[in-house]
Amino acid sequence: MRCQRCQKPISGNYVRAFDKVWHHDCFLCTGCQKPIAGQYIKKDGQPWHIPCFQKAFIPNCAVCNKPLTESYLQDYWGNKYCASHRKYATCTSCGRIVCGPVTNGGMRFPDGLMICHLCTETGVTTQSKATKIMWEMREALKSLGLNLYNAETPTRLTNRDELHTHSRHSNHDEHPLLGLAQWSTTYVGKRIVSRQFNEILIQTNLPEDHFRTVVIHELTHAWFFYNNPKGEKLPLHIEEGMCVLVEYLWLKKQKTDDAQYRMTIIKECPDPIYGDGFRAALKAMNFMRLSSLARYIIEKKKFPSAFSAFFYE
Ligand SMILES: [Zn+2]
Ligand SMILES: [Zn+2]
Ligand SMILES: [Zn+2]
Ligand SMILES: [Zn+2]
Ligand SMILES: [Zn+2]
Repeated sequence: MRCQRCQKPISGNYVRAFDKVWHHDCFLCTGCQKPIAGQYIKKDGQPWHIPCFQKAFIPNCAVCNKPLTESYLQDYWGNKYCASHRKYATCTSCGRIVCGPVTNGGMRFPDGLMICHLCTETGVTTQSKATKIMWEMREALKSLGLNLYNAETPTRLTNRDELHTHSRHSNHDEHPLLGLAQWSTTYVGKRIVSRQFNEILIQTNLPEDHFRTVVIHELTHAWFFYNNPKGEKLPLHIEEGMCVLVEYLWLKKQKTDDAQYRMTIIKECPDPIYGDGFRAALKAMNFMRLSSLARYIIEKKKFPSAFSAFFYE
C-alpha cells in the first residue's frame, strides 16, 4: 500500500479517500496545501478544505461579502449579490445596488430619486448647465437629421413630483419618468386655433450622460410638435418609439460603458410603449433614414413596411 502523494509505503494510520490512500501528512488541501483533518470536498479527483473550495470557486456577494452558495443575482456590471438583497434600493441611473462596497453609497434626493455615488459625480444640478447641454443636444439631433432650426425648446430642471403631476400616462414601472415635453393646444369646437410649445422638464440630479439621453428624447418630441402643424395625434407607441430610437442612435456614437449599458436597457425594455415602440422604430430604419422616417410617420401615423417605404422618399 503506497501513499497517493509521496508514493512511499504506508504503515500505521492513513487516510482513505475516493478509493485512494494517503499518509495523514500527505492528504493536502489543493487550495492551501495544508493537511486536511476534518471534512473535505472532492473536485477533479483532488481534495479541498471546504472554506478553501468556497474561496476558490464560489464568488462572494458584492454587498455583504459572504460566499454565494445559493442562487444569486448578477447585475449588468458583473456584480453578484445574494438574492435577499433584491429589496435594496438600486441607482435610477446605472442600476447598481446602492451600498458602500459597490457604489460607495449614494444619495436619496428629497424628491425620492436614488442616485449612487458613482453617478452623482457628474450630476446636472444647475439650470445653466442644463441649458448648455440642451443646446449641445439640439446639435446632436440635427446631425442625426432632425433639425429644430430656430424653434424654441426652453428646458427646465425639476423634481419627480412635478414630472408625475404633468405626465400623460401613469405606468412608469418599466420606464422611469425622467423628462417631459409640454405643449398646449387651444380649440374652438374641434378646430385647433393655436398651439404652443411650452417647455421641456428634466429630472434634476441625473448624471450628465444620462441627462443627455433624456434631453435628446424630449427634443425629439419637440421636433414632432413643430413638424406636425395640424397637431394630429400620433399613436403613443410610435412617437415614444421614435424618441427612444433617437436616444439609441445617439448612444451608439458614444463609445463608453455607460452608453453600452443604456443601449442594453433600451433593447431589453419590456414596456409595450417604450420597448415595443423602439423595436418597431429600429426595424423601420432598415427602410428609410431617420428624417424620412419621421416625416413618413407624421403623414401616415404608422411605421412603414418595406413595401410602403419603397414608394416614399
Ligand atoms: Zn505520503
Ligand atoms: Zn485548504
Ligand atoms: Zn450578500
Ligand atoms: Zn449609479
Ligand atoms: Zn417620451
